[in-house]
Amino acid sequence: MSLPFRVGLGYDIHRLVAGRKLVLGGVTIPSEVGLEGHSDADVLTHALADAVLGALALPDIGHFFPNTDPKFRGMDSQEILRRAVAEAKTRGYKVGNVDIAVLAERPRLSPHINAMKVVLAKSLEVTVEEVGIKATTNENCDDVGAGEAIAAHAVAMLVKA
Ligand code: MG
Repeated sequence: MSLPFRVGLGYDIHRLVAGRKLVLGGVTIPSEVGLEGHSDADVLTHALADAVLGALALPDIGHFFPNTDPKFRGMDSQEILRRAVAEAKTRGYKVGNVDIAVLAERPRLSPHINAMKVVLAKSLEVTVEEVGIKATTNENCDDVGAGEAIAAHAVAMLVKA
């Protein structure tokens, strides 16, 4: 790999269910419902890890952390993100900046954005200025708009180290 910059795109969606913690961007957010999934189901971090892997033209996180493997049950998704960053380093790249759009009808996420940036910046080994996060609703459209799921889109730019 020799390009000075590489970009990647990630997307993920998880259903909201009772009896689960809501973890987004590595931050546990007070909520009556949480995201369903094999790991901690941190949909925002999954989209971001896929963006980093995508920038390297690698397969998605399901390839590295299959949800059929019991050892990944309940795992901290920051571990997944750190693995993606390690894959970049192995190939001579570091993370430049990232940007994320998270779609959630509930709960209100804006009070938690700065805390998420701090956690993600640490995992990405960048400063918080390199981490963009925007939270929006889905204007009552489809399952996200009905408050039954949370989705996230992410882009990542890698820089030749
Ligand atoms: Mg996921």
